[in-house]
Amino acid sequence: MLSLLIFFFGSTIGSFLLVFVERFFTEESFIYGRSHCDHCQHRLGIFDLVPLLSQLFLRGRCRYCKTKISFLNFFTELICGLIFLSAFLHFTSVTQALSFLFCLVLSLFDAKNHGFPLLVWGGFAVIFFLIFPFHVTMLCWFFLALLADCFPLKIGAGDFLWLFILSYFLSFIQLVEVIQIASVLGLLWYVFKKEKELAFIPFLSIGYLILFLTLQIH
Ligand SMILES: [Zn+2]
Repeated sequence: MLSLLIFFFGSTIGSFLLVFVERFFTEESFIYGRSHCDHCQHRLGIFDLVPLLSQLFLRGRCRYCKTKISFLNFFTELICGLIFLSAFLHFTSVTQALSFLFCLVLSLFDAKNHGFPLLVWGGFAVIFFLIFPFHVTMLCWFFLALLADCFPLKIGAGDFLWLFILSYFLSFIQLVEVIQIASVLGLLWYVFKKEKELAFIPFLSIGYLILFLTLQIH
């Protein structure tokens, strides 16, 4: 029962993160502003705000205008619930769960805006900096981020900043493996979706998750 509550709490946080990402670049407050349908602007009732269940009950559509709600919303609430549950059940440590939360937030920003605010990255960077000792290989990713910011490389500065944080959790070789997995997934996505500009952080995050699960199994 407690596990279910933790999962439900996590998915509620996921729902809040969605609002945070969507309203970050707008004038709308993500704390005080009432939630509404992006299509018909109808204010959402209390039952429409129940994470996961409301979307299952309404079959992923707005109750008022019947517009389809992005599957990303359901997926985010589910993943965030699982992140909290995995830490509660000690499948991950609290810091590993925090790294997955970092991946989720940056993936959401990248998927929606093809980039993320440096302020959000910096917030996580400060937390991790206080927990873990700094090591030299991190400078390599930071240097590459600076290079990518100055010159048009095929990979963005934000992706290197993501790798900078993840080097607290993975070795250099493991990060290269994550990039390889992400590249293959990104290529498959490009073949099927034909998107000109690819948000790479979601693929890097999936690569991290795959590597993490593989290491847990072995
Ligand atoms: Zn609506």
